[in-house]
Amino acid sequence: MPNSDKKIFQKNIKTAPILIAGPCSAETKQQLTDTAEEISRIKRVKIFRAGVWKPRTRPGSFEGAGAKALPWLREIKDKYKFKIAVEVAKPEHVEECLKYPDTVDVVWLGARTTGNPFSVQAIADSLRGTNMAVLIKNPINPDLDLWLGATQRILNAGITDVGAIHRGFYPFSKTFLRNLPKWEIPINYMMQFPEIPMINDPSHIAGDIDYIHDVAQRALNTNFDGLMIETHISPKDALSDAKQQLTPTELDSLIDKLVFRQKTSTSPQFFDLLHKYRDQIDSIDFQIIELLNERMEIIKNIGKYKSEYNVSVFQLKRWRDVLASRIEFCDKFDLSKPFVEKVLSLVHEESIRQQSFIMNEYDDDLDYEE
Ligand code: PEP
Ligand code: MN
Repeated sequence: MPNSDKKIFQKNIKTAPILIAGPCSAETKQQLTDTAEEISRIKRVKIFRAGVWKPRTRPGSFEGAGAKALPWLREIKDKYKFKIAVEVAKPEHVEECLKYPDTVDVVWLGARTTGNPFSVQAIADSLRGTNMAVLIKNPINPDLDLWLGATQRILNAGITDVGAIHRGFYPFSKTFLRNLPKWEIPINYMMQFPEIPMINDPSHIAGDIDYIHDVAQRALNTNFDGLMIETHISPKDALSDAKQQLTPTELDSLIDKLVFRQKTSTSPQFFDLLHKYRDQIDSIDFQIIELLNERMEIIKNIGKYKSEYNVSVFQLKRWRDVLASRIEFCDKFDLSKPFVEKVLSLVHEESIRQQSFIMNEYDDDLDYEE
């Protein structure tokens, strides 16, 4: 009995973004009820989340109250009229949820689960034929295919009420954010599944309440369809993710402060000028491609020349000079140096690839993974 007529997660609906709030973990009945009661005063929040089962990195950490929290959530749902969302990490969790009819409306697959296709498939099979809405978090590693694959498995099980959650990616070296946003990955996801709403989880990206606003605003600027924000009645006493949970009052002021963007404008003037700007951008993009081509033709000539003199393709000193002089040139403009460095590095990588091909005439597909 798919509930396609009243989907929770829909793209481009005219209503405000989907807001999900609640504690990282379901700890006690009191903690859940007190948190829900306070959040219920925030009109925009329609879905209450709680980690009933918490997959933890190390054994011995608090793993959530478990199935006994489901009747507590049922009471909360009846009293405050929330939709209820919990994480499921294995089919048994889905089965537990189904034992309490009209309690859980939404299940989400956590980042650790999305990374494991066997687990995703087992959960997808257990959801087949139910009317659960399903949210799929990105995997811990920045692998778009795993995220898309997990989504496909859920869709293949006949689930139609589906959303994605962008919670960031594990950083190899410490940054001030707990997880790297890598915004291009959710954007690529949106391109593959344009109908699936994308929800941002600024709590797990930020890892600290100080950065939640900026991450959430960036998501709204990037046309995300909603936010999932960890909220606890007393974050300092939280049994998991204490540093990143807001109080309901802090959540309320965060939501007040955030600028919710329109998907597009209804003003014709907006499009008049926008089209002019976009024409300019189009022309510049084509010029960039022409210049890249011109540059690459010279690169190829240099490749032949180096080949004649049997000189290696990569020249460290030259590359250092190229980078340094271009980066210094950036001082004249309001342009990010790391951005220019990234672009130049890509161009340089392609130049090496082209010259190596000319010198050795080996298969130039070697440098590509696909
Ligand atoms: C959570 O939402 O509490 C959670 C465990 O998130 P993630 O799977 O993104 O780490
Ligand atoms: Mn958490």
